[in-house]
Amino acid sequence: MPLSQRDTTLPTPCDVLVVGGGPAGSTISALLAEKGWNVHVLEKDRHPRFHIGESLLPHSLPMLQRLGVLGDVEKIGITKYGAEVVSPYHGRSRTLYFSKALDGSQPFAYQVKRAEFDKILFNNAVSKGAHLHEEVKAKKVEFRPGSTHLVQAEDRVGQPLAWEAKFVVDASGRDTFLSGQLGGKHRNPHHNCAAIFGHFEGVKRLPGMDEGNISIVWFDHGWWWIIPFKDGTTSVGAVCWPSYISRRKGSLEQFLQDTIALCPPVAERMAQASLIGQAYAAANYSYRRETMRGDCYLMIGDAFAFIDPVFSSGVHLALNSATLGADVVDASLRGAPEYEACVKEFERSVRLGVKTYSWFIYHFTQPAFRALFMSTGSIFKMEEAVLSILAGDAFGRSPTRVPILLFKIAYYLVYLFNFRENWTAYRRRITGVTHTVTDVTDYAVNQRS
Ligand SMILES: Cc1cc2nc3c(=O)[nH]c(=O)nc-3n(C[C@H](O)[C@H](O)[C@H](O)COP(=O)(O)OP(=O)(O)OC[C@H]3O[C@@H](n4cnc5c(N)ncnc54)[C@H](O)[C@@H]3O)c2cc1C
Repeated sequence: MPLSQRDTTLPTPCDVLVVGGGPAGSTISALLAEKGWNVHVLEKDRHPRFHIGESLLPHSLPMLQRLGVLGDVEKIGITKYGAEVVSPYHGRSRTLYFSKALDGSQPFAYQVKRAEFDKILFNNAVSKGAHLHEEVKAKKVEFRPGSTHLVQAEDRVGQPLAWEAKFVVDASGRDTFLSGQLGGKHRNPHHNCAAIFGHFEGVKRLPGMDEGNISIVWFDHGWWWIIPFKDGTTSVGAVCWPSYISRRKGSLEQFLQDTIALCPPVAERMAQASLIGQAYAAANYSYRRETMRGDCYLMIGDAFAFIDPVFSSGVHLALNSATLGADVVDASLRGAPEYEACVKEFERSVRLGVKTYSWFIYHFTQPAFRALFMSTGSIFKMEEAVLSILAGDAFGRSPTRVPILLFKIAYYLVYLFNFRENWTAYRRRITGVTHTVTDVTDYAVNQRS
């Protein structure tokens, strides 16, 4: 029954209540509705809406295919065959192609505008039978052991609404809705960065088949991304240490322009560029929760953990946790014997994904890491294994363990060899990331306590 025709003082009964209609929420809703469960999704915004996180990974494509949306994503996306890494410290760039990964079965991905991509996933959940409620914000869950759980929400004008659900899924992204209520979320003290970004027109493109590649550019205050879209516009942003962000004096737009000027390779590509609309910021963004589930709830995607976006892993991790999470919820609702096995695989895979990317993220701005990334030629399949991780093969399916271990050993040897330079960079980063960013606020997150 449409929401408008119901007596809104009575809670709506459902099997699963999902908070958040981003990639994680829409994916788990579609998969559970497909299995016949009565799924309701609350989304505080209205699609299409701006969201950051536009570069997809090749190993997400099979999950999008399983959802039945790959064709639609292909229509809105520009093909990304690899990543260009640009080191002003070496005075050159290098392109890493996914086709050279250990498992070369997924040689490309897409860059997408999230307003379009998220709407495709959201509409797909509707077409599979999920009930979606836009501009409805979840406020609180009352867990009632042995019974259904009461989810309280309110609509755009503040009218209270409620649902009675057998299972609750938190897919609220960086709002971390359930953590706000239950606690257990910890900021990552080693990586407390912030990002400033916007969409631009007139950004110079890479030639030929490289046009759709992401460019990652190191600079003294962190790193840059340049992500081209199919319509000729481009997402450009910088992830910076808090110590740099705290220097901001004027508007965010001016700060973004001033920061571009500090990085010649980015400034050169943006000589003719102009900002479309406003500039955005995301603050204090690395965190993790201790646990990702209880008897009657799950946290998926960014609602569980958020790590630095340098390897474009966010949507991939969200899709993976939603896909495996759907098996957990389904088995729980059926009281199926395979429930424990589903939970084990869900937790193993989600934790491994976060862990795999975290090591690379922590070391990405070290001179030793740059030296290895910029060197050509691969021994012991180290480059192929790193490319596998970059392509999203991060859940232990390919034999990356030994070559990645060798890569890490090589990193520490190069570090020791150039100890003074690396130690100075490490100290600078650690000193820079210790304080909380208050100089910019996060565009997507409720500024709640
Ligand atoms: C600067 C930056 C750059 C990034 N770049 C990339 C990239 O290139 N590639 C990549 O893959 N990832 C990237 N990411 C990460 C990516 O944005 C996220 O990992 C991804 O969006 C996670 O999906 P999700 O569904 O878990 O959360 P989200 O996409 O954030 O969706 C959560 C949804 O829940 C809704 N919501 C929140 N609270 C409530 C509530 N109380 N009630 C109802 N609805 C609610 C929100 O409106 C939102 O629509 C980047 C992130 C940042 C900050």
